[in-house]
Amino acid sequence: MSGTARYPNLFSPLDLGHTTLKNRALMGSMHTGLEEAEGGFERMAAFFAERARGGVGMIITGGFAPNLEGGGLAKLSTADEAAQHVLITSAVHQADPDVKICMQILHMGPLAWTDQCVSPSGVRSRLSPFAPGELDEESIEKQLRDFEACARMAKDAGYDGVEIIGSAGYLLSTFLVQKTNLRTDRWGGSYENRMRFPVEVMRRVREAVGKDFIVIFRIAGMDMLQGGMSWDEVVTLAKKVEEVGASIISTHFTWHEAAVPTIATMVPRAAFAGVTGRLRKELGIPTITSNRINMPDVAESVLAAGDADIVSMARPMLADPELVNKAAEGREDEINTCIACNQACLDHGFTGQTVTCLVNPRACFETELTYEPAATVKTIAVVGAGPAGLAYSVVAAQRGHRVTLYDAADEIGGQLNLAKRIPGKEEYYETIRYFRRMIDVHGIDLKLETKVTADMLRSGSYDEVVIATGIEPRLPDIEGIDHPKVVGYVEVIKGEKPVGKKVAIIGAGGIGFDVAELVSHEGKSGALDIDTFAREWGIDFEHHPRGGVTGVEPVVAKADREVILMQRKSTRLGRGLGKSTGWTHRLTLQRREVTMISGVEYLGITDEGLHVRIDGEAQVLDVDTIIVCAGQTSLRALHDELEGSGASVHLVGGAFEAAELDAKRAIDQASRLAASV
Ligand code: NAP
Ligand code: SF4
Repeated sequence: MSGTARYPNLFSPLDLGHTTLKNRALMGSMHTGLEEAEGGFERMAAFFAERARGGVGMIITGGFAPNLEGGGLAKLSTADEAAQHVLITSAVHQADPDVKICMQILHMGPLAWTDQCVSPSGVRSRLSPFAPGELDEESIEKQLRDFEACARMAKDAGYDGVEIIGSAGYLLSTFLVQKTNLRTDRWGGSYENRMRFPVEVMRRVREAVGKDFIVIFRIAGMDMLQGGMSWDEVVTLAKKVEEVGASIISTHFTWHEAAVPTIATMVPRAAFAGVTGRLRKELGIPTITSNRINMPDVAESVLAAGDADIVSMARPMLADPELVNKAAEGREDEINTCIACNQACLDHGFTGQTVTCLVNPRACFETELTYEPAATVKTIAVVGAGPAGLAYSVVAAQRGHRVTLYDAADEIGGQLNLAKRIPGKEEYYETIRYFRRMIDVHGIDLKLETKVTADMLRSGSYDEVVIATGIEPRLPDIEGIDHPKVVGYVEVIKGEKPVGKKVAIIGAGGIGFDVAELVSHEGKSGALDIDTFAREWGIDFEHHPRGGVTGVEPVVAKADREVILMQRKSTRLGRGLGKSTGWTHRLTLQRREVTMISGVEYLGITDEGLHVRIDGEAQVLDVDTIIVCAGQTSLRALHDELEGSGASVHLVGGAFEAAELDAKRAIDQASRLAASV
């Protein structure tokens, strides 16, 4: 069956009156860092054009502020700035004239990265170092005029529409919520007054652009704030915005400062679509839903259930620009699925690096990282089928090289096989499925359960040899480390060794946290069960109290086990975890009463337990099991044996450098190397 027949809702056009969307797949807005980078518009043109060719119906750019005070990052308020946007709109329309592209107008309000930031009442966000100025009547009028001008310029630059963001803790939403709007004039007080500014923005923008132009208004379907918006307020705003001219309502979930994960991999797929579905019933215009919709079958079921008219996928389009075409052609098993790790997208954005994707390092680097057909076809041996070896093999084979991929194990995936077993990280199965399929598609000769020796590679039958043999866990030099109480993280994650009731974990890096999650977990994985997820994070989807969370206590299921997680450093545990998700892991473990200790000195291991010194005081932790998660060392013996033998040998991934290795670095390094061979 063709993909278009399998996904009839996804591939049905949507008539917006003055124009038609060719399908229901939207590439949602993501700030990539290219907006303000030198040469960023050329790179964005290539980035968006590739997604347009990939079959998506509509694209929304990253956010551009309507004025200085609204951004601190990119803005659109001058003719010179507008001229640059033509690069984007013409590239997209040239790639496919049927694809619509809209620009997001993002006034960040108190979250703008500038000391000139503004807000309704000068309430500072806990996420910002800047105290916003309080808007007076005149400056409110200025903001409205700037929105109008920005939308008009976007239209003149060739966009098919704009998206106004009225959620997430940015300016418009701070008018709506009582804790950030303390005004007593016509812009504050009653809900009608608090709604006035966002509604006025919508009205003015519509007036500025005329009727034949898409205007999407993004609203918080659930803002996840204690004392946030009530359901009635959400509906009232959506209806009002519709009345004054919105073409489409898009739902957003959470404010940035809310303490509930809404897009991390621990969130079930399409968890929030039902909220959009309820809102959709109240409106006469189409709705967009979003969050953790990463595969065509998920998109189709959301649309088929009547939960939305359009499905937004932002990160999935970073991961695979061809997602929609692959779905249409029945090649969904070839989709490089977004695993919602946030490691290369949001975490890069939060740390000032250009956004890209862990599973697709070409994302946002389309102009510099290209996979051209190889000028000379080579015969290549790759040893190790972990993320680095797999990425290298796929890119090299895709370019036309003849690749043989070896692994001593009986399955591909290497460390990915550990990650997928951690509750909340089940999406890693998809990455392994993708690579398995790519091995077939590109005719890679896969040889599993094969222990490769230097002699096999020395024989001259390979033009290039790539060593991706990975790592082995580090065994710390602690007296008694060979005691039967001690087990390695690999055996624990694979379920090969029993874990007692009282557990100490040595090492609190990414793997220490993963292992703590695994051994403290009880019951279903929240990522696979929306009720468990809702209970664990205190969300009431059914009754929708203010913000969806007000007064709802998280109820955490925990294993009947005492767990202590430790590190030698004196810093707070989990500091090295990703910015966007580290807090969720810390909070989960705290709620499960996992004890986290830093500044630990390991003195030895005996039948009594783990002897440590903490704050200068020697003590014995009476535990049954000690799990070692103390990092890794490189496995590079094969490389060292081959060096100097005349073979052209390369090292990638953990074999190259074990310290703080993750799949992001492994895939990026290997893909770049394979692009140049
Ligand atoms: P890691 O992040 O390097 O952490 C190793 C831990 O072991 C540290 O807590 C370190 O803390 C401790 N350690 C190091 N040498 C030790 C020694 N000789 N004796 C005792 N303790 C020692 O390594 P990992 O946790 O194995 O993770 C490997 C990679 O996978 C990392 O890059 C990690 O980011 C990535 N990963 C990421 C995630 C994620 O959530 N994003 C999840 C899993 C893995 P002290 O030196 O202070 O004791
Ligand atoms: Fe998805 Fe991770 Fe790629 Fe971000 S980095 S797009 S979350 S797979």
